[in-house]
Amino acid sequence: WAGSRRPGRNFLFVPGPTNVPDRVQRAMVVPMEDHRSSSFPELTLPLFEDLKKVFKSRDGQVFIFPSSGTGAWEAALTNTLSPGDKVLASRFGQFSTLWIDLAQRVGLDVEVQDEEWGRGADPDRIEEALRADREHRIKAVLVVHNETATGVTSDVGAVRRAIDAAGHPAMLYVDGVSSIGSIDFRASEWGVDCAITGSQKGLMLPAGLGIVCVSPRALAAAKTAECRRCYFDFADQAKANATGYFPYTPALPLLYGLRESMRCLFEEGLEQVFARHRFLADGTRAAVKAWGLTLCAQDPKWNSDTVSAIMVPEGINGAEVIDIAYRRYNMALGAGLSKVAGKLFRIGHLGDLNELMLLGALAGAEMAMCDAGIQVQPGSGVAAAQTHFRGATQTAEQRA
Ligand code: PLP
Repeated sequence: WAGSRRPGRNFLFVPGPTNVPDRVQRAMVVPMEDHRSSSFPELTLPLFEDLKKVFKSRDGQVFIFPSSGTGAWEAALTNTLSPGDKVLASRFGQFSTLWIDLAQRVGLDVEVQDEEWGRGADPDRIEEALRADREHRIKAVLVVHNETATGVTSDVGAVRRAIDAAGHPAMLYVDGVSSIGSIDFRASEWGVDCAITGSQKGLMLPAGLGIVCVSPRALAAAKTAECRRCYFDFADQAKANATGYFPYTPALPLLYGLRESMRCLFEEGLEQVFARHRFLADGTRAAVKAWGLTLCAQDPKWNSDTVSAIMVPEGINGAEVIDIAYRRYNMALGAGLSKVAGKLFRIGHLGDLNELMLLGALAGAEMAMCDAGIQVQPGSGVAAAQTHFRGATQTAEQRA
């Protein structure tokens, strides 16, 4: 288009930030207020309780930081560990790489288990490493539940079983930034000691909140942990949070938005939210198959229900598909990061999303791929996804 105005909506299909529902947007349009007023806890105290439901935590304590997910990573590690402490971490994508880098930079001794990008954490290898650690020097196991860079979901329940099978006392820290609120996450059942998320994905908010759900055991560890921390100190938070306040000025509109976004999740029902994500992801995967392309995830057991990383054929630059989609069709797709730069593009299918929105993205991806020289049959992916979506609709009608 010649002009600078881009009519219609931008199609936001990066795997976060995700679309913010209109009612959540409206809930954030609030005048500033005194965050030390006597009525402020009426807003905040229920947020902590509701977030526990989203984490599926029975006895955890939730902390809400004015940061992104990266701050929550740092908070989890620095509050509960000491410099030189050993942690075991699986690395199989850009986000697990960055978390490991952060762990090293705050002074931890990281034993890295590299997996091929496209695979997830390997519970057998984790068990093996823990069994070999007879002196129990490993204090924590770090796992990224949903590796956003490769569209891979790891089996956190299996990691918990591996830790138990090894009879090892290590704590379990899980990055659920691109799973929590979209893919089933069970902090208590899986014995997750620090569960980490951010506001801009399944919680359907702008970026700006880093959230950690901490087990009683990790909270106890915080009492003696010596990593340096100040802004992210759990003790400062806990003291203020106990009566519904924060140790510093909170991100007020985001807290109102969080209240509304959790209302959205609970009205739909968490289990239904997870089922919808699975359903939309299956439609996306049907499209990928119809295009004759493959996912970065190397086996269906790794398939992510929040993001599909789609490999482009040899000789094609995935970045070009993304750029064409953006410039010609006003649609944002996720880029290939680091090791997989240029080799794939990603469709984020998480948050406030339905079938027709996703079909728009699949149509846009098809056009951009054709324009970039990929031999895909126009309409083929859209048709496959439609068939998937209609099939399920008909079944529902037949049942009625
Ligand atoms: N972990 C995962 C799995 C992510 O996808 C991201 C961001 O996309 C992060 C951590 C980092 O979060 P943030 O960008 O909010 O700091």
